[in-house]
Amino acid sequence: MDHNQQTLVVTRFAPSPTGFLHIGGVRTALFAYLHAKRHNGTFILRIEDTDKEREVAGSIEHIQASLAWLGLEYEYGPDTPGPWGSVIQSERLATYQRYAKLLYDKGLAYPDPYTQEEVEVFRAAASAEKRPFLFRDHRPATFGVWDGSQPLRLKVPEVKRYTWHDAVRGELTAGPEALDDVILIKADGYPTYNFAHIIDDHEMGVTHIMRADEFIASTPKFLSIYDALGLTPPVFVSMPPVLRDDRTKKLGKRDGAKDILDYRTDGFLPEAMVNFLALTGWNPGTEQEFFSKQELINVFDITKIQRAGAVINEEKLLWLNKQHLAGLSDEDYLAYITDGDCVHPLLSTEHRAALEVLVPTIRERTHVRSEFLTALGAGEYDFAVAAPQYDTALLLWKKDPDVAAAQPRLEQVKNLLAPHNDWNSEALKALLMPYAESVGKGEVLWPLRVALSGRQNSPDPFTIMATIGKEATLERLSAACAKIQGDAS
Ligand code: GLU
Repeated sequence: MDHNQQTLVVTRFAPSPTGFLHIGGVRTALFAYLHAKRHNGTFILRIEDTDKEREVAGSIEHIQASLAWLGLEYEYGPDTPGPWGSVIQSERLATYQRYAKLLYDKGLAYPDPYTQEEVEVFRAAASAEKRPFLFRDHRPATFGVWDGSQPLRLKVPEVKRYTWHDAVRGELTAGPEALDDVILIKADGYPTYNFAHIIDDHEMGVTHIMRADEFIASTPKFLSIYDALGLTPPVFVSMPPVLRDDRTKKLGKRDGAKDILDYRTDGFLPEAMVNFLALTGWNPGTEQEFFSKQELINVFDITKIQRAGAVINEEKLLWLNKQHLAGLSDEDYLAYITDGDCVHPLLSTEHRAALEVLVPTIRERTHVRSEFLTALGAGEYDFAVAAPQYDTALLLWKKDPDVAAAQPRLEQVKNLLAPHNDWNSEALKALLMPYAESVGKGEVLWPLRVALSGRQNSPDPFTIMATIGKEATLERLSAACAKIQGDAS
């Protein structure tokens, strides 16, 4: 069957607004997005802000900016409510109250009659007897009137073993020990996550719940709430965690997980980030690694989500970014490399021509803009804007007994260059290589490169000559020869 003919797929990303999004959270959003788009379905951004104490101001905008950067467009979100109303849970309290009232009226929910101290006594007794504390063991014989001042608890409709299917994990099961009379509505009038997400997924028509696998342990509780409400649960799709490097734990903000927007600042392309995240916990079942977003949409398949946790492979991210950068025209690459607030003469209009000549070299040496800026800051491209300063000793090729050996070679290079006017790196290379090969490549190219750049590490001498032009090239060679003579006298 053509996948477009299937029932409409609706997925959601449901973060709590507790700060920035890191790579783990965004990966969940991406998978939910890809699954929806694969089936021409709907993707929703829902804000789960029922825990007001953990909320961090500005998070919603930050989450929106993160998804926008990656191009994960949603049909419904904070600025685009759906037919069911807002996607922000704190704006949906009346809905949760309505469902809570329904359960209460049916005798499937009851106000918690205990004080905190009383519950502590139950808990201590359970612990003394080495049995798990279950609220349902203390369920009151008759239920009081719910006036909203006490938490409302679920009366577990049936204490039984649940078995369910997870699209990634297969068949899962848990016994009655996982069930309890959980809180549905807190004393402050807000719903718990357990209750609110079930109602929202139902009202919003969510067909696939794609979330972290840490929620598997709570799934029997969720199933008992679905049962009480008489609802059929959506498909559960549990994502493997994104792990810390040492694989011992889920990657968290405390482990230094970066804000996803910091990757943008570093110069990662959103397409590369999406490509990378897609391969973190999912594989296409082929050798292909480079994917555009559209290609991912075409092939994404939830049955290929891995069960095992995935570790962030920074090297792969760098490699992918370079691959995606290769798709930029030289003009766009220049715009990319100069975007940001880095101040260096090479990036000024004055040196625009030099920078243009350097584009192929920078492309070859660079995975991400921050890497280029580091090299720039370290002086690796200073040759393009000023004559180099260096110790004469640097001109000494390791096989030469003394630095004076470089002088006749540099003179000969000068002689070859003087009448030559085809000033591009290919032509310069063709001109000088026969001589360099006749003497020994290192013996000629090393002092030549140092004379031009003044550095141990720099682009090759032909690129440098092409960048700085004939006049500056000859001047730098003369200066190197004068330096050698000066040192010798
Ligand atoms: N609000 C939950 C969280 O931030 C989302 C869980 C879900 O997707 O149902 O972890």
